[in-house]
Amino acid sequence: MQTNLRWNRRGFLGTLAAFAASTFAPRKVFGSTRTATAEASAIKLTGLGQTGNVYEELGVTTIINGEGTMTTLGGSLIRPEVEAAMQLAAQHFVSIPELEVAAGKRIAEMLKLPQGYGAIVTCGAAAAIQAGYAGILTGDNVNLIQQLPDLTGMKTEVIIQKAHRNPFDHQIRGTGVKLVEIETREQLRHAIGPQTAALHFTNFANADGQIKVDEWVKIAKEANLPTLIDAAADTPPISHLWDYANMGYDLITFSGGKAIRGPQCAGLLLGRQDLVNYALLNNSPYEDTINRLAKVGKEEIVGMVKALELYLAEDENAMRNEWWRRLDTVSSAVSGIPGIRVDRFVPDIANHVPHIRITLDPTKIKATPREITQQLRKGTPSIVLATGERGESNIITMNSFMLKPGEDKIIATHLAETMKQHSA
Ligand SMILES: *Cc1c(COP(=O)(O)O)cnc(C)c1O
Repeated sequence: MQTNLRWNRRGFLGTLAAFAASTFAPRKVFGSTRTATAEASAIKLTGLGQTGNVYEELGVTTIINGEGTMTTLGGSLIRPEVEAAMQLAAQHFVSIPELEVAAGKRIAEMLKLPQGYGAIVTCGAAAAIQAGYAGILTGDNVNLIQQLPDLTGMKTEVIIQKAHRNPFDHQIRGTGVKLVEIETREQLRHAIGPQTAALHFTNFANADGQIKVDEWVKIAKEANLPTLIDAAADTPPISHLWDYANMGYDLITFSGGKAIRGPQCAGLLLGRQDLVNYALLNNSPYEDTINRLAKVGKEEIVGMVKALELYLAEDENAMRNEWWRRLDTVSSAVSGIPGIRVDRFVPDIANHVPHIRITLDPTKIKATPREITQQLRKGTPSIVLATGERGESNIITMNSFMLKPGEDKIIATHLAETMKQHSA
């Protein structure tokens, strides 16, 4: 029995570790994981995994990802060292609440969060949003925790700027509260009342709302209301991990499975220790809670701590240079084609990483950006690039931070070939 359990455990995680090891990281980053990886690759799987490519065996196409940390594409590729730590975490039973507290303490220390701030690991940033608001509403009252999303006896509204509405505010509404949309400072003052539970800020929408990130938290403090900032995709820069806590935000969320390259089903809820504690009480593993559906396992909790440790040690300049170098490979392959112009950009916030914008002159290129990206998506290998957001119809964009070594060249070749086919 014991042997069987061990085999299954290693078989499962080992497959992932071996996959990540063989396909993702350059050999030099492997120092600390060589043992775990060697052990994992020594397991010979029969059945699923026998070829080393579980996706091919299932008939699912693997993708070269020039679009970024999209959950629908699998988010990001986990660091091999994180896989190794998860494999170690999988070998023992522990109390999950005790582990959450210990992990939170380690995370708060690593990030040098302000005095009185703590953290928990959730199953993603979306789960952190819902747990965070649930905690604000219920405190540590067990009856209220069990009662959500019935808000009887609790506050009922969260205020948000209209421009900050986005699909992830579903997790705020999931607690039962009503979102009150405002645009001006005047409207905000009027909206605040005894029914207001909190103020929400969507970090990527900072430029679009009238009230900016620093002013929003000041107004919340004056009104003595907690405020949660959703910064899920907002590293790099790494310093964002503590910037919003230092600014005074009461709760802050980040995805673990985006640029941090932690476990795909992990996220961070950072913030005031009391609110973080209340969020945990509303979260798995506790039952009869609204976030019991957002289970986070011992492997993800440990993996998230390990991922942060590694992320904090990254050389941001070196990473950025490498990302630009990959994009330059693609730029040089396509910029000579008539009707193509390439320029560089970095989004201010959210996916704040090197990008290129490829502008197509429709009089010279006979296919639309969408037709070109679809052709690449259906090609072999399958490549995903983005078409212009915000209604620009003649633009393809890409970034390179999710590419594996060598994939920049593959994109360059295939994109140039496709463009030339449609070039007049
Ligand atoms: C990705 C994202 C989320 C959800 O994060 P998960 O870790 O996938 O749950 C929430 N808010 C924003 C702005 C995001 O980009």
